[in-house]
Amino acid sequence: MTSIVRDLINTLHGDGDTSHSLDADMQRVLQQLADLHGLPIETLNPVQARAQPTPADAVAALLKVDGIDPGAAQPWAYPKSADRLVPGAESDLSVRVYTPAGAGPFPLVVYFHGGGWVIADKNTYDASARGISGAAGAVVVSVDYRRAPEHQFPAAWDDASAAYEWVVLNARALNGDGERIALAGEGAGGTLAIATAVALSRRRISQPKSVLAIYPIAQTGNDGTESYDDSAHAQPLNKAMIPWFLDKLAPEPLDRTDKRLDLINADLVGLPPVTIVNAEIDPLRSDGAMLETALKEAGIEVTRKVYGGVTHEFFGMAAVVKRAAEAQEFAGAQLRVAFARIPGREFKSVLPRAFGFASFDSLIKIKAIGYAAKHSFSDLKPFEFERDSARDDEIVLDVLYCGVCHSDIHQAKNEWSNTIYPCVPGHEIVGRVREVGAAVTRHQIGDIVGVGCMIDSCRMCEPCLAGDENYCDGPNGWLATYNGPMVPAAKAANDSNMYERENTFGGYSDILVVNEDFALKIPGNLRPEIAAPILCAGATTYSPLKHWGVKPGDRVGVIGFGGLGDMAAKIAIAMGAEVILFTRTDEKLAEAIRIGAKAILESDIVALTHLHNSFDFIISTVPQKHDINPYIALLKRDKTLCVVGALETMAGVDNQALAFQRKNVAGSLIANLQDTQEVLDFCARHDIGPEIELIQMDEINDAFKRVIKGDVRFRYVIDMASASARPPADSVGRF
Ligand code: NDP
Repeated sequence: MTSIVRDLINTLHGDGDTSHSLDADMQRVLQQLADLHGLPIETLNPVQARAQPTPADAVAALLKVDGIDPGAAQPWAYPKSADRLVPGAESDLSVRVYTPAGAGPFPLVVYFHGGGWVIADKNTYDASARGISGAAGAVVVSVDYRRAPEHQFPAAWDDASAAYEWVVLNARALNGDGERIALAGEGAGGTLAIATAVALSRRRISQPKSVLAIYPIAQTGNDGTESYDDSAHAQPLNKAMIPWFLDKLAPEPLDRTDKRLDLINADLVGLPPVTIVNAEIDPLRSDGAMLETALKEAGIEVTRKVYGGVTHEFFGMAAVVKRAAEAQEFAGAQLRVAFARIPGREFKSVLPRAFGFASFDSLIKIKAIGYAAKHSFSDLKPFEFERDSARDDEIVLDVLYCGVCHSDIHQAKNEWSNTIYPCVPGHEIVGRVREVGAAVTRHQIGDIVGVGCMIDSCRMCEPCLAGDENYCDGPNGWLATYNGPMVPAAKAANDSNMYERENTFGGYSDILVVNEDFALKIPGNLRPEIAAPILCAGATTYSPLKHWGVKPGDRVGVIGFGGLGDMAAKIAIAMGAEVILFTRTDEKLAEAIRIGAKAILESDIVALTHLHNSFDFIISTVPQKHDINPYIALLKRDKTLCVVGALETMAGVDNQALAFQRKNVAGSLIANLQDTQEVLDFCARHDIGPEIELIQMDEINDAFKRVIKGDVRFRYVIDMASASARPPADSVGRF
């Protein structure tokens, strides 16, 4: 036995649940560490210090001696891991993502390693992060923040916040649940975890639900604490090493009083529950006690546990130190309790073997049948595929009706050059809820609900927080009901794939699985087949009519009398406006009168001239690029022409015509969830809806041709009962 280990055994004191004698497992690790002949780091420069043997090396050496595989030695199901780069405050940071066994989505933990901000990295602390992942059943992201002295205070703190933010924004891509997120850290990393929670509590970002601080440095003003004295010569951390670390981190004395380092004097009010883990034989044990007091005084729920007979760095030694396994079990339980507290989102994930829970059932697949285009030039054909069963916050619908929007044709034929095949179109969907996830509160089995163009959004970005999910500027934009995220991973910053989906399959299918927030309520007096086109055609036209404040007495122009034009005209009339439709089709003039509008042939230049400077708002629903200059002339001063139809480069606009009377040309994209619900309710209240023609699923190719020719009056709606009666599918897709 070395003298260091012998000294430790003879000089133990401490608070809390302590044994006052060096734990036998711990003793074995320290003996092994001593046998690796490291030098005291306080005598070295940082480069030399980083090259010294670590406690993790000692554990690895013991496992080798014992002939034990490190994975098998862990008390938890071994989480898999993968390294990647994420944006830091100034440069990319390397992180390791640990994912437990099971299907997810999992809670998330952002973990910061120890090493006094100078030495060590995520490799040194691999066992700790992996242990937390296993014990908490959480995805853990372990962050290599910038270290001193190359990057002095507060570089590591800035990186910690940046990493947290990245995890929040990419929760889904990590198979995580952005609402169940925690911070954790060890030693210097424990300080970062608390300080990051303090910084976040002042920001408008998803807050951590818990903080786990394992033997953090909690203050810099007092090196005469009880534990600094009784553990002055402890291993692997001793009193002399602390000023060595602080000199590298913050040579400027003033920086050491910064509240991000001097946590006990920080404003801790508003933090989530904090768990502190301390080792008895550790100069930082009293820091833990002081932090506990400061948190309690700030009204924070805090739980602190001191593990007897073990030293700083013990937490990651679960493979060889029983008390480390106990500490991981305790930390994991604390995190699980915090995650389970989120109302309506009870924890339902993989629980560690040690707790005797069976692993979470893998998601069952649901067989679906639909119609898909396989190429831009091919017809739609029957297509069998599988959808994931509902997650906690999702519902499963039997699709009853699906409208045929001209966008379905653009997309199936790759006219926007972004189609992912196979392409199952359909975003005017009405269905009956057949199943609800455990946390669903908005819908019940049997409800008739609608789904429009979106099935999810990032929910974190400024537009999403403002309720404009249709303008989501998260890393992948919103998740379209078909054709995947608006910004696919290949085009997203850092290859983000927050929805974990490359492609999505729409409503030309018998079954749909959707997040409950993106399913709208269909009012009882709206027939489901009438409601379907309102989810896109109605919403896309209602939103700009509302945005530009159309009111009774206004004159509104609608260019193009198809599916969107029909709804635009009816909604504007119900808003009290006088509506004039501009059409290229003679036969539609009478149709316009029937719905209470007037109509003018686009080619009737004389009639157009009589209408100059008389419109309060004009909406163009024409699906191709066209000349809007004749219509700009129709606007009153300060009024707007909004193009929703042609989502492409338009022909040139005469800016003189705009400038001379301060007129506006604008665009608008579908509608947010609130407006989509509003337009459904509005149509039900005013007893309006689209003119529809019901078709069978196998008539879809003919329907596409007739829409292109402009033959439809005014919307085809597929009766989806006909979908499951189709001939055997010729291929199988995967969601
Ligand atoms: P429809 O085909 O049902 O109607 C379009 C109408 O535009 C036709 O009926 C026709 O009316 C007129 N039109 C004028 N020129 C042409 C032409 N060259 N080819 C075909 N039609 C022409 O389409 P929708 O109403 O379903 O959709 C209209 C456009 O809106 C599509 O491009 C679609 O992608 C887009 N859209 C945009 C959304 C957004 O968020 N901005 C959302 C949903 C759809 P007439 O006979 O009276 O001249």
